Amino acid sequence: MVHVGIGYDVHPLVEGRRLVLGGVEIPHAKGLEGHSDADALMHALTDAVLGAIGDVDIGHLFPNTDPSWKNAPSRIFLEEAARRVRAKGGRIVNVDVSLAAEQPKIHPHISAMKANVAAALGIPVGKVGVKATTNERMGFVGREEGIAAMAVASVDLPE
Ligand code: MG
Repeated sequence: MVHVGIGYDVHPLVEGRRLVLGGVEIPHAKGLEGHSDADALMHALTDAVLGAIGDVDIGHLFPNTDPSWKNAPSRIFLEEAARRVRAKGGRIVNVDVSLAAEQPKIHPHISAMKANVAAALGIPVGKVGVKATTNERMGFVGREEGIAAMAVASVDLPE
């Protein structure tokens, strides 16, 4: 039986931080602020996968008060979500993410992001969607105050 999950995440863009999205470090004047590496793409995907199996969310599994996750690569969170799917006898069918970022241009990095997500989840790269859009200069994304990510995951679980 196929189950779906949804995930959403946003982090502020600030000076003096690395910009990491989908495990790819993108050269940019600002980076995402957060306790871990603040990879909003991986965080949204982690919540989508956890949601599909009815599990708790990323903030419960990896609290930002826990020093273990300080500046941690968010691939760890996605790997744990995939492990929890396998523990239930499930299989990730596909995942898909949309990024909302005014700057920088995401397109040149999409192939590398897909490869990183596929590796973390242990699924073929053809089962991973990553797209990006600007916010047409509107709102906090449009003012380049932050970057948002929305994700869905489809998981085949035994009855
Ligand atoms: Mg986050």
